[in-house]
Amino acid sequence: MSTVQLNLAELEIPELEAALETRGCERFHARQLYRWIYKRGIVDFERMTDLSKDLRTRLTAEFQVATPQAVSDSRSVDGTRKFVLELADRRRIEVVFIPETPAMTFCISTQVGCAMGCGFCLTGKMGLVRNLTAGEIAGQVRVLAAATGMLDHRFNIVLMGMGEPLHNYDNTMKALRMLHSEHGFSVSPRRVTLSTVGIVPGLERLAREPLMPNLAVSLHATTDEQRTELVPPNRKYPLAEILETCRRFPLKKRSRITFEYVLLDGVNDTPEDARRLARLLSGIKSKVNLIPLNPAPGIPFERPSDERVDRFAQILADRHITVSVRKSRGRDIRAACGQLIVEGGSRKSAAQQMALLMG
Ligand code: SAH
Ligand code: SF4
Repeated sequence: MSTVQLNLAELEIPELEAALETRGCERFHARQLYRWIYKRGIVDFERMTDLSKDLRTRLTAEFQVATPQAVSDSRSVDGTRKFVLELADRRRIEVVFIPETPAMTFCISTQVGCAMGCGFCLTGKMGLVRNLTAGEIAGQVRVLAAATGMLDHRFNIVLMGMGEPLHNYDNTMKALRMLHSEHGFSVSPRRVTLSTVGIVPGLERLAREPLMPNLAVSLHATTDEQRTELVPPNRKYPLAEILETCRRFPLKKRSRITFEYVLLDGVNDTPEDARRLARLLSGIKSKVNLIPLNPAPGIPFERPSDERVDRFAQILADRHITVSVRKSRGRDIRAACGQLIVEGGSRKSAAQQMALLMG
């Protein structure tokens, strides 16, 4: 394949129309191409049967649609599926399909690794390798939808895989616009949740976005001292600033900001923490999602007992805060939150990869 081929996976409809026009093709083919690529999961121009033979030949010569390749697919006993995807530069990311929660949910990544360095997260231990492009972010959804038979169905998307979405702001938002296109998946922003550690300038930009996803803020601690230890970017964007930005965040009717709180046994899960959390959230339209730690080798924290989790939740509920406890899905295949990491040094041979793809 020649390197001058333009990668259509990176283009929004207006860009695709312009690219076609520059090459002397009709603009309306952009919509047809989007339908094939997103709705039907077909990226081989020769198989796009409503295009003329001549056009298919020209498209094949001039364009490509780079698509992450699934190199493994593991299934949990609870139905969760984790895919390892390989990108054009052979970097790998992980994505997760979580069925019936009650919606069908795709958990996708925005970066290879992550620069934030949260102490309880395996992705954080990798450091940042690189940002994903918009096409690679949207491409994960194309691959998941095709692999799970969901191309024609509604699904939710959570940006809770590897990486910090607001640290890769432009590519993340471009991917959401591509996924929103009525000629592709038409994913409504209400079906998308962006989870962030709270990078304040990013939150402020997000507040002005026309296509605004649901917001989840990873809080995890109730004092700056403890939060800075667990979530290092807190040094730059401390609790008060994040919460003030959340207080001003424009929310649609009936919508609320989710605050995620990973419970670490004996560290941030005391009744005092719960009471402080309730006080911090007062005046914010919020709900709390408690996430008992998913432990992993190399993570220096423990998961609290169910009793401790329940007690924490009860203190919030008594203060009229809507609280849920996240069930950890797919722990047996290391697909749960914070367990996403791509092990190095285990590159499979081409034959093994083929076997996985065929299997
Ligand atoms: N970077 C973003 C989104 C990806 S992480 C963020 O941090 O919000 C998605 C969620 O998984 C976050 O709330 C994160 O705190 C949580 N998480 C990370 N490691 C975890 C672990 N070991 N156990 C449980 N949840 C974890
Ligand atoms: Fe990055 Fe989120 Fe993991 Fe923190 S929890 S290291 S922000 S992926």
